Parts: sequence; C-alpha cells; structure tokens
Amino acid sequence: MRHSENCAETASGNRSEAAFLRERKVVPGGSMRAASWFQPHPPYAAKGEGCWVIDVDGRRLLDCANNFFSLIHGHAFEPVLEAVRGAMSKGTAFGMPTESEILLAEALAERSPRLEQTRFCNSGTEAVLAAIKGARGLTGREKIAKFEGCYHGAYDWIEVSLDPTPANWNDEAGNPASVRCNAGTPDSVLRETVVLPYDDPQRCADILLREGPSLAAVIVDPHASRAGAVPMSRETAAVVQQACRKHGIVLIADEVISFRLSFEGASPLFGLEPDLVTTAKIIGGGLPIGAVSGSRDRMSVFDHSAGKPIVSMGGTFSANPLSMAAGLASLTHYSRAAVERLNTLGDRLRQRVRAGFASSGAEASITGMGSLFRLHVGRHEVTGYRSAYANADTAKLIRRVQLAMLDENILLTPNCSGALSTPMTETEVDLIADKLVGVVSKGIGENSAPG
Ligand code: PMP
Repeated sequence: MRHSENCAETASGNRSEAAFLRERKVVPGGSMRAASWFQPHPPYAAKGEGCWVIDVDGRRLLDCANNFFSLIHGHAFEPVLEAVRGAMSKGTAFGMPTESEILLAEALAERSPRLEQTRFCNSGTEAVLAAIKGARGLTGREKIAKFEGCYHGAYDWIEVSLDPTPANWNDEAGNPASVRCNAGTPDSVLRETVVLPYDDPQRCADILLREGPSLAAVIVDPHASRAGAVPMSRETAAVVQQACRKHGIVLIADEVISFRLSFEGASPLFGLEPDLVTTAKIIGGGLPIGAVSGSRDRMSVFDHSAGKPIVSMGGTFSANPLSMAAGLASLTHYSRAAVERLNTLGDRLRQRVRAGFASSGAEASITGMGSLFRLHVGRHEVTGYRSAYANADTAKLIRRVQLAMLDENILLTPNCSGALSTPMTETEVDLIADKLVGVVSKGIGENSAPG
C-alpha cells in the first residue's frame, strides 16, 4: 500500500481495523497514545463536527472524549477555524515574537489576577515541568510533593505514584509510598518525590509538617481526573495552602483540565491561591499548547531580559501563532455565560444518572464537577485515588461499559470519563445520561464489542 492511499477495509469490512493492522507495523502497539487505545482497537477518526466525531467507517459518535477534554467547543468550531486560517495565511512559525502571543497572555490575565504573566509552551507536560523547574529555581530546593494517583503529564517526577496498587501503595509508616510508574525511573527520583493522600487532610498535614522545609513545590490538581474526578475537599486544599505559606513552598495548581471549571479557573473554587498555574488543552482551542502563569514576581524566575534567567523556558514552537490564534478564539467564546451553561448541563447529567442508578439499583456511581464526569463501578463512596482504584474485575466491567456505550454511538475515554462541550444541549446530555444508565443497569452485557 502506498503512503498516499487510504487504509482499505479488512475482510470484515472494517476500515478502523484495517488502519490498526497497518499502523501496528510501523508504530509500537499500533497506536500513538496508550490513553486512547483499547482492545481490540479504537475506531479511527475521519472528521469532527461540533460534538460529533465521524469515524473512518462512517459512524457518528457523540464525542465525550473531546481529545481528552481539550476541545471545549467541540470539533471544527468555526471561530477557531477562521482564526487559524487567518494566522496560517501569514506563515506558521517565526524565529521572532508575534503579537498573537500578547493577545492570548492578556486574555488569560483578564480572566484572573493569578494569571498576571504567562509563558507558553506546547503541552501540559511541558508546562508542569517548567513550573517545577521554576519552583526549584525560586527555592533552591530539590524535592517536590504530589498527590497519589494524580496525572500531571509524562515525565519521571510527576509520574511517581501515578498508578500504585494495594500491594505497593503504603510505606512502612502507612503513608503513601513513592512508587515507580515506569521501569528504569531512578531511585533518586522516588526520593525526591513526596506523595500525599488526596482525601486524608490530617495525614497530608503530618507529611507536609515533616517534609515541608525541604520541598520546592507542591503540585495540586483540585479536581484530579485519574484520582477519581472528585473535587478535593476544602480541608485538604487549606492544609496544602497553609503548609506552602509556612514553609515557603511554591504552590503549583495544575489546571490543565480543571481550568474549564470556572471563568477564572479551578483554584478559586477551592480557596487555593497558587504561586504558579499550569494550563493547556482548552486554552489552545484544539491546537498544541501549554502555559505557566503567575504573578510578575513569581514569573520573574523565567525572565531572561537582564541576562541568564534563573531557569530557562522556551522551545522552537513555543507561542506559535496558530496555537495562539486558536486559543484566543476558544477562550473568547468560553465566556462566563458559556461556562455557567456548560456547568449547569454537567449538573443535569450527573443528577439524571444518579436518579437512574437509584431507580434501577445499579451498583455504580458518577463523580465529577462542572462539565466533567466519570463513572465508577460499585456502591462505595469515591473520595480519591484509592476508592476509585479499579481492581481487575472492576476494570473489566468499566471496559465493558465503555464498549457498550460505543455500541450506542457515544465515545467515552477508556476509563469511562467524559467532558461536555459547548455545542451540546440538553438533548445530547440526556442522551448520554440515559444511555449510560441503560447500559450500566442492563448488567453490563457480556457481548458488547466495539463496532
Ligand atoms: N496535567 C493534567 C492535570 C492533565 O490532565 C494532563 C493531560 N491529560 C497533563 C498535565 C499533561 O498535558 P499534555 O497531555 O498536554 O502534555
């Protein structure tokens, strides 16, 4: 097959399957991202229209994955397309600053005084790494603290204890252990990363009292998707805030996903006053982006104007004009009213699902806040990583729900979480809720398989 040809169908007539078989030859695992892969293969996207994605087999799926919650306005949102077309017609990237980076930085600053100054990069991972580097530069300390099970991107320190199991998640004192996520992560990285419990403020306070003086940063996502998609308690947030003030630790709020929760972002909803804020996803309007923001004082750590900065931050495509233009269009249309409307739709979804589960007696629950939601199997209350942890049996059930939802033409992420986008209305939200209740209440059928 020549590279210009489309993937042909297989004997089963499935073009996604053919694409997967072809991709497997040149890409390990047959897919670029573990997060969007599932057995036997995911559907391949052909195009998107608003809240719908059409796969290469012509199937229309109601998209709750939204490229992992980055497409707040869904697919092919005309104002974003128009902005990108306009920017692209002038060239795609320059070894010079452009005015577009000023406009997006100003748009962030207008939303919250916490975002007074900004540096852009190309992903949330990069933003978090730069923020940690900045915190180390500001404090001269090496250790960082993060919450168990929370995802902040793909790199050594921030992947510590991303996915510990009951067999290894406690240290000898009963505190969360620093657990290696990838083979080969050096022991020194584990020693430099203190792990905090998401839902145990007292233990959190004790650990921070002991470790505080040696910490450069505490990184916190107050609505951590991987740790259950439950809002962090105000008590835990206050413990973190006080410890950071007391010990001179840089508080980094990772709002890569949770920025969408309010016009100003997530921190104010939890009483957090971070020193640095990392954002990505929706601030790029669907193009690659990441950002570190903070007060002029904190952000001076990256200031190169007087010579060598305390720490460096930059990259070839940082603040590229296409991402800047797309991000500005996206944020402009995510007004206070749009945020409110989407959050109200999220409340409606969760209430409808809860009522449905209650009346059918389904052993499942839904968590989330604003426009974010996640399904859990079981009747117990989910409060953080450990109660959200899926053992082999629950993981199998969650997978079956995801595949059964796909049979119903609704795309969730593989762990059955989802996000709403502004093209959605009550009609789509009720459809998602009713299908989810139907699928879960039916007993999560054995025969579901992806189309
Ligand atoms: N932080 C959080 C909270 C995230 O959810 C993610 C990605 N899902 C990242 C950081 C990393 O962002 P990216 O995938 O853009 O590198």
